[in-house]
Amino acid sequence: MNSAHTATQQQILTALHQAVGNDHVHTDDATLDEHSHDHSTAATQARALAVVSPASTDEVSAVLRIASTFVVPVVPQGRRTGVVGAADAVPGAILLDLTRLDRIISIDTADQLATVQPGVITQHLADAAREHGLFYPVDPGSVHISSIGGNIATNAGGMRCVKYGVTGDSVRSLTAVLADGTIIHTGHDSIKGVAGLDLTSLIVGSEGTLAVVTEATLALRPAPGDAAGAAAWFPTLADALSAAAEIGSGPRRPSALELLDRPSIQAINTLGTLEALPDDAAAMLIVESDELDRAAADVDAYAEVFRAHHALRIDLARSATEVDQLLEIRRNLHPGLMRAYPAVLTEDIAVPRGRLLELLTIIEAAAAESGAPVATGGHVGDGNLHPIIGYDPADADSLARAAQAFDIILERTVELGGTITGEHGVGHMKRNALARELSPAVRALQVRVKAAFDPQGILNPGRKI
Ligand SMILES: Cc1cc2nc3c(=O)[nH]c(=O)nc-3n(C[C@H](O)[C@H](O)[C@H](O)COP(=O)(O)OP(=O)(O)OC[C@H]3O[C@@H](n4cnc5c(N)ncnc54)[C@H](O)[C@@H]3O)c2cc1C
Repeated sequence: MNSAHTATQQQILTALHQAVGNDHVHTDDATLDEHSHDHSTAATQARALAVVSPASTDEVSAVLRIASTFVVPVVPQGRRTGVVGAADAVPGAILLDLTRLDRIISIDTADQLATVQPGVITQHLADAAREHGLFYPVDPGSVHISSIGGNIATNAGGMRCVKYGVTGDSVRSLTAVLADGTIIHTGHDSIKGVAGLDLTSLIVGSEGTLAVVTEATLALRPAPGDAAGAAAWFPTLADALSAAAEIGSGPRRPSALELLDRPSIQAINTLGTLEALPDDAAAMLIVESDELDRAAADVDAYAEVFRAHHALRIDLARSATEVDQLLEIRRNLHPGLMRAYPAVLTEDIAVPRGRLLELLTIIEAAAAESGAPVATGGHVGDGNLHPIIGYDPADADSLARAAQAFDIILERTVELGGTITGEHGVGHMKRNALARELSPAVRALQVRVKAAFDPQGILNPGRKI
């Protein structure tokens, strides 16, 4: 607290100190700055009131009761690895840091369930499941740095969605706190359950605008088999896509199917952390199978498909280390492009897989029209691509060209029947683009749903809807 705070702000801060303890309310510049933005490049300059770090559902409830009494905005925050500004500060807000809620409460091997607090890092849950012979499949590129709460609130995806679905497909039940401090439990730990409306699915992906998740019960799976994989290089993007389409419509289900175009491969090479990849082909596909007792046979079948679609080169990965190196190539996409350009705008569009070639044509046209460099990689097995647009933040013209490419891609993706975001979310960065995709009636309905959860509009305002 300092003299710059108004009398009301001091009252709020006193109440927050009582709710979570003096050590867990921070108003100093360094902590506020650190917590004011996520990994997106469109950071706001908004100044929050405080960073508040509760340690239990009851403390979250107490903080929200204070926020609703004083009508103060609240921004729930996980590990702030989001890329659309959904966890960025809002003026005068309480930044609700959920990382102290970081316990894996139980792993139930009989029902194959994990109950966790939201601040658990995703990989920690995957490791704990593995120790029990089980598997948590959700694998965003940020798996080592993002939290389960953030994954639930963004309905995060990743490389394994092609086989195992997105985060929401693993969520059975939630404990959550409403804007007025009411603690609710939604969903069911049984496999089935249809009592009342499905509020769990509504909260999943709501980017902290409907409720704060304080506990989640997640479905685990039996451990998969030893994985095998392959990388293949193609003379044209069309060849790579037709190979991916044949795999996608075939009888075998890969556990990853990823695309990298030539600029992406070149950017990964500039990073220099992996063995240099051949970078004269137009595109590369990476495929993985983790089918029990059948992975190598699956990959042999995928290699046949690659050959039939004019692959120039195919590298097989048989051991766990080789397979991990293969996936590491794809994980290096974003870091490689961050190295290749001074700054990047990351797109996250998705279309029905049958329209991917048209989407790639659109991306190439957007790059040509705007003059901005665009490298494209992504989850081709899901129809979800990440065109990454390079720019120089110190050069207004370069920024304008990048923004133009971003906009053209969003507009034309929707015209193709696609979506402006497959997995990263809306945040504040894509809010203006919502009107391209959602009808006025649907947007109005979403505003009414939000009002039912949060009548004063204090939870993460200006985001998602
Ligand atoms: C290198 C890199 C790779 C990435 N790869 C992927 C990928 O493959 N797939 C993918 O989907 N995303 C990816 N992301 C984006 C990001 O990691 C995900 O969106 C992730 O789910 C965010 O988790 P977080 O803990 O960092 O949440 P934050 O960024 O802190 O928050 C994200 C949103 O969740 C809300 N929130 C957080 N915790 C809670 C809670 N307990 N209750 C209610 N709301 C909450 C916030 O208000 C915000 O709206 C990547 C990011 C990076 C930096």
